Amino acid sequence: MKNEQQRYQIGAREESGRYPVRVDGKPAGCVYRRHGSWFPVMPGHRMDGRSTYRYGAAELLVAAVDQGKRPTIPVQAARPHTPRALDVATRSSYTYLIPDLRPTLPNVVRAAEAMARLAELAWKPLAGYPGADQPWMMQCLLCGWEGRRFWSHLRGRNGDGIPRPVNRHPWCLPVADHAELIAKHSTGLTDTCECTAFRHPTRTYGALEALTVLKRKYEKESNRQGLFFSRAILEPCTASSARAVALREALDWALAL
Ligand SMILES: [Zn+2]
Ligand SMILES: [Zn+2]
Repeated sequence: MKNEQQRYQIGAREESGRYPVRVDGKPAGCVYRRHGSWFPVMPGHRMDGRSTYRYGAAELLVAAVDQGKRPTIPVQAARPHTPRALDVATRSSYTYLIPDLRPTLPNVVRAAEAMARLAELAWKPLAGYPGADQPWMMQCLLCGWEGRRFWSHLRGRNGDGIPRPVNRHPWCLPVADHAELIAKHSTGLTDTCECTAFRHPTRTYGALEALTVLKRKYEKESNRQGLFFSRAILEPCTASSARAVALREALDWALAL
């Protein structure tokens, strides 16, 4: 009996928990395990089916290839990025989150709002807010992917609040699972600051105080320097949404003072 040759190779586990799979020697996608089952992923295609075994999921990729399907995004490019220049060292500090915008109170508040919304959508900013229409380096908290996204695409258009695009980024977990995963992720968010190292304002008065301090710094020192005092506003906090609301409420007062 002819022993049919295995047509797939499963690569080493990636940081995101996925295993890249090659079929007939070419990148075909990946497999990952969730809730005790193995799922195949081929970028650009909806993949039905799952298996109890990793190998079973890889066989589903072989079947897809035999149906003429190929990954539509170069698999190499779609792999999670490895952390680069803005580095682990700077990431422990909030200063990497200083917006890449003219240093004004409204811009700092906009940055805090955008970062709060990112947290609600299970994204982590890896750089300061660059404005709505500039590429922004961030990490997908559902799968660990890192890359550049446009805030204007993520926040939804015309203020309807619906995040777009539906596909978060190439190579993410299946879209059908996103709502559940995002909901799970957002259980870690709180209404009040529970940070121990620093108290972040989540009420209007506290936000006004933080903005006033920053405003004074702007007036007295160079703008750049002033930004380094915006820890209260920019530092990651589980209550970032409440903080953003408070900052927005306080902004007009702070500008008028
Ligand atoms: Zn993702
Ligand atoms: Zn906090």
